Amino acid sequence: MEFADWTRRRSQGVPLAYLRQWQEFFGRRFFVDQRVLIPRPETELLIEETLRFAPDFPENVRIIDVGTGSGCVAISLALELPKAQLFATDISPDALTVAERNANAFKVHDRICFLTGDLLIPIQQKVDWILANLPYVAAQRWQQELSLAYEPRAALVGEGDGTGTICRLLRQALPLLNHPGRMLLEIGEDQGGLVKKAQSLLPGAEVDLLLDLAGLPRLLRIVV
Ligand code: GLN
Repeated sequence: MEFADWTRRRSQGVPLAYLRQWQEFFGRRFFVDQRVLIPRPETELLIEETLRFAPDFPENVRIIDVGTGSGCVAISLALELPKAQLFATDISPDALTVAERNANAFKVHDRICFLTGDLLIPIQQKVDWILANLPYVAAQRWQQELSLAYEPRAALVGEGDGTGTICRLLRQALPLLNHPGRMLLEIGEDQGGLVKKAQSLLPGAEVDLLLDLAGLPRLLRIVV
C-alpha cells in the first residue's frame, strides 16, 4: 500500500492494526485483517487466568476457544501449554481462514482442531475448559461508537441487550463440560448481572467475576 493511501485510510478511521495487518497479543504478533476482531489487551486476562491453573491440569487437558476470530487465544494457549488439546470454533469461515493462517505461522496447526459452527454446536466430546471472547456489545452502543465501525459487526454485537450470545453459550455448556470443569468468558464492564444469570442456568456451579486493573468486571468465571 502506498504511503498516501495509508494516511488517507488512517484519517478515515481504519484501525492501524488493519493497515499494517498485525496486532500484538500476549507478546506475539498475529496477522489480522477486516475478517476478524482486532485482539484487545484486556483479553490477555483470559490467558493469564487459564495459565494460573496449568500446574493442576490433567494430562492432555482439553480446552476450547469459542468464537476464536484471529485465533489469538487458542494459539497463545497452544504455545504456552505444549500438552493441551485445543479446539477452536467460529461461525465465520472467513475468520477461521485467518485463525488457521496464524496457527500455521506459529507452527501449531496440528495442535488445534478448528471447527466451523455456532458456539458449541460443532463440539462432540467433553472438554475441561471453555474459554470465549464472544460478541457482547449492545447494538445501540455499537452504532454510536465509530471506532468499532471497521471491525466485523458479528464479532462485536451480542444478541438481545448484548449479553444474549453469552447466555446461549451458558445454556449449551453444561453437557459438554467435564467435572471438574471451568468456563472463563470475557464480558462488558456493565454486565456483572451475568453472574445471577449463570447461577440460574448452571445450577450448583460456583460463579464469580474477575475484575480488571481498573476494578471493572472483565471475566465471568464458572467452576462446575
Ligand atoms: N472489548 C470490545 C469493546 O468493547 C468488545 C469485544 C467483544 O465484543 N468481544 O470494544
